[in-house]
Amino acid sequence: MGRGGQASQGQTPTDWVTRAADDAIRHARQADEHAGTEGGRVITCASGASPSGPVHLGNLREFLTVHFVAEEIRRRGIAVRHLHSWDDYDRFRKVPAGVDPSWAEHVGRPLSAVPDPWECHASWAEHFKAPLQAALREMGVEMEEVSQTEQYRAGAYRDQILTAVRRRDDIEQVLATYRTKKTAPVAESEQEAEALAESVADEEEAAGSGDLSRFPFKPYCRDCGRDTTTVTSYDDESTDLAYTCEVCDFHGVTNLTTQHEGKLVWKVDWPMRWWVEGVDFEPGGVDHATPGSSYTVGKELVKRIYGGRAPSFVGYSFVGAGGQVKMSSSRGGVPTAADALKILEAPILRWLYVRRQPKQAFNVDFGAEVVRLYDEWDALARKAANPDKRDAQVLAFERASATAAAGVLPTPAVVVPFRVLSSVADVTAGSAELISRTIGHVGHEHSTVEELEPRLTRAMTWMADFVPAEDRTTVREEADKDRLASLSEREQQWIALLLDGLPEELDIEPVTTLVYGVPKLAHGLPLDADPTDEVKADQKAFFTLLYNLLVDADRGPRLPTLIVALGAGKVRSLLTP
Ligand SMILES: [Zn+2]
Ligand SMILES: [Zn+2]
Repeated sequence: MGRGGQASQGQTPTDWVTRAADDAIRHARQADEHAGTEGGRVITCASGASPSGPVHLGNLREFLTVHFVAEEIRRRGIAVRHLHSWDDYDRFRKVPAGVDPSWAEHVGRPLSAVPDPWECHASWAEHFKAPLQAALREMGVEMEEVSQTEQYRAGAYRDQILTAVRRRDDIEQVLATYRTKKTAPVAESEQEAEALAESVADEEEAAGSGDLSRFPFKPYCRDCGRDTTTVTSYDDESTDLAYTCEVCDFHGVTNLTTQHEGKLVWKVDWPMRWWVEGVDFEPGGVDHATPGSSYTVGKELVKRIYGGRAPSFVGYSFVGAGGQVKMSSSRGGVPTAADALKILEAPILRWLYVRRQPKQAFNVDFGAEVVRLYDEWDALARKAANPDKRDAQVLAFERASATAAAGVLPTPAVVVPFRVLSSVADVTAGSAELISRTIGHVGHEHSTVEELEPRLTRAMTWMADFVPAEDRTTVREEADKDRLASLSEREQQWIALLLDGLPEELDIEPVTTLVYGVPKLAHGLPLDADPTDEVKADQKAFFTLLYNLLVDADRGPRLPTLIVALGAGKVRSLLTP
């Protein structure tokens, strides 16, 4: 028994990552035994993604599921790689909203051959890979990346393609069995419906007609580059494949041994790559694991056709988004990892994915929930600092906050609650330097702005770009003269007591004592007296009055914070007729 066994015994907490890593290691050992090799080869954990559009937070689960499992295996001292396939040799399916309709002429071409409509990258595929690659780097995810366009074009799969084509009747037999078993899955969300529609499209792709109707290989037309081809004949001796193109009417012959101009259909392509790459672990959306789905069929095919074994598999559910989603994405669509990293520290985004079972669906919230999420994270960080409290939650914290290669991911040197940073950003609506100074006065000492990063910038961005204007604080530009002229006697007394007690340099503790104490003083009690019921009622009325006069609202950020953030001069000017 390897170290995987030890990890699940005794006092070490375990989670889904531990179990998936155990399974991947077991898979590798069994594969070694089967092959009669000594073992010790590098374990392969694979992910795959089609760069057909913005890689949203649901797709991110594919990458992170593999990343966490590979990290766990690495942590045990076992050689492992995270192999990521960019499925950029997949066809361009349709022109999305917001793109010039003339891009319809590229439908059917590989994503790597479609030009970038925004003209900033070499291709459509590169345009959508780049931001995700940057976000993953920020999240400490390191992968060995493979372009399927490069692999196919270089003939890396030539032998496996020839095998699949030679064994096409066996493949069809397997596919036919599962075709009848297929039950129509029910989509639970829009994203899921889209994924299901795509898997149905994969299901129905046919490369030829008649006897060749289920041909497992589809050529891209040599003339127009589209996959709108129909296989018309195949010669098993010469490996010449003849086809016609529906769009440009080209009649061509490609030789599968010497020319590399097409790809295996998806349901054969996936198991073929498990075999070639020696994949031990690969996750997939839950729709990939239903009867008749690509995983189930692939499992059978890899065994029958290549004599291999399907990797251990984890099915994951969808990830949605909540809160001010529309404001989060410049494309107005589903938010991406880059969008989430504008407001969440990288370890917190990682934590959202690692703390839940893959089969659990969840939302990343861009609204008010962000504040609670930061509080929860900070509380967990304090718990994790105590070695006696190591449980599954702390394990999730550790997985989220550090990687083997990058070490501990960036977190603020001085941890200030996100609610404090965001409300100071809200009130001051000013520069990082101004916010930093105010933060010092509200009880969070630090020496430089940098000590508050990377959190400060995120709090500022969240407040400015994600919180709706009506929920933000608008500080009055000048005093409300009408209201000040109509103050009751008691209200005048409160304001006078406040201004009398207000020093020029404001610090949070004395300001808090003063703000809560003014109604006590008005009742002839000392500042530190316990509040009576009357005092409590007066405090409520006094606070509403201050919000009215300072920010033209009945409520707002905590008053002491608001007053310190505004500064004595501004407070005096707004409270004096
Ligand atoms: Zn671009
Ligand atoms: Zn053509």
